[in-house]
Amino acid sequence: MARPLSKAPHISGREPENAEGISQSAAPPVTTFAPAPRSPGKPARLWKPKHVYVTADAYREEHGRRIVERLDALGIGYEVMKANRLPKLGGSTTAETYRKAKNTLAIVNAPPSALRLTPIPPSADWQFHLAKGCPAHCQYCYLAGSLPGAPVTRAYANLDAILENNASFIDPNRTLTTFEASCYTDPLGIEHLTGSISRAIEWFGGQPEARLRWVTKYDAVDPLLDLEHNGQTRCRISLNAEWVTRRIEAGTADLEARLHAMRRLARAGYRVGAVLAPLMPFENWREGYADMLQRLREALDFEVDLTFELITHRFTPGSKDILLEWYPKTPLDFDEARRSKKRNKFRSHKFVYPKEQMTELKEWFGKEIEARFPEAEVLYFT
Ligand code: SF4
Repeated sequence: MARPLSKAPHISGREPENAEGISQSAAPPVTTFAPAPRSPGKPARLWKPKHVYVTADAYREEHGRRIVERLDALGIGYEVMKANRLPKLGGSTTAETYRKAKNTLAIVNAPPSALRLTPIPPSADWQFHLAKGCPAHCQYCYLAGSLPGAPVTRAYANLDAILENNASFIDPNRTLTTFEASCYTDPLGIEHLTGSISRAIEWFGGQPEARLRWVTKYDAVDPLLDLEHNGQTRCRISLNAEWVTRRIEAGTADLEARLHAMRRLARAGYRVGAVLAPLMPFENWREGYADMLQRLREALDFEVDLTFELITHRFTPGSKDILLEWYPKTPLDFDEARRSKKRNKFRSHKFVYPKEQMTELKEWFGKEIEARFPEAEVLYFT
């Protein structure tokens, strides 16, 4: 039986485990479907930033030099700065600044504050960061309003220190401590430039009491397939109905390419996860999401350790303003009149779907997932 959706907004975020720390969701799905995905889909174009800056401190780091070697190999020009300040982007309009920022990669060192990890429920015990920013153009982007300034992608050069720092957050009294690496970036979208998620996967492969979790909308998984992950990483793919992926997630891999990537990761022995987000009741949403779930079932037609995370669309007043400046023609529904206000402990609020709509979405997805993936684990619905 698929585990039911939690009654509270989420259940635990922790990987389910038995006394040996082995995931209980490893049993094969009961239902099987013969065909593999029809085609590999349309891959995302590998990002080639127009402007790359390497700060002086970042250039001194071993990983900073590794990134520079990758840039050289890809024929991407860069400027090594004399200090650690990045130049101003200088766009004359918001749209121009946005365009410039989305074409800019900065190689910097993460500040010391980044080494003081914070919890990230329900996804994991701790969040750590390989980078901040992302080259894609999702019109609901989670980073809008949570990262200050123009959306430049900053990749961290002091990666070795970042990974070693994680060791001090592994709880020796618990079988497993989980770490989330994609709160502020899509690590696979910049992997060809940084190699950072590969190194993180290998680092966690040597940590039997820790598990890495990360999520992507990209599909270039080749470099990950032969890594020594030792089952310590759960690779999650963000999925949505075609209506959303085609209209609202520019710059990412299409749905079929993501499914194909997920299949390949699972074949390489990774634990995998489907992050269904952001869920939204567009016209004919049931048909759209049923199609997505069915294609996922067909892509994973073998024994696989699979989890689901379900996140509905939400926005804050601040993120709405930024997103409407970036994407003035978006088809996303930002009408507060059709939403409920949800307050948080910081006395701010976000707009979520009203209770009846949330209940309908939760019940529908619970039933449809149960029907197709009886052995999978639904970690939370929010
Ligand atoms: S992939 Fe994630 S971080 Fe990147 S633009 Fe889309 S929502 Fe934002």
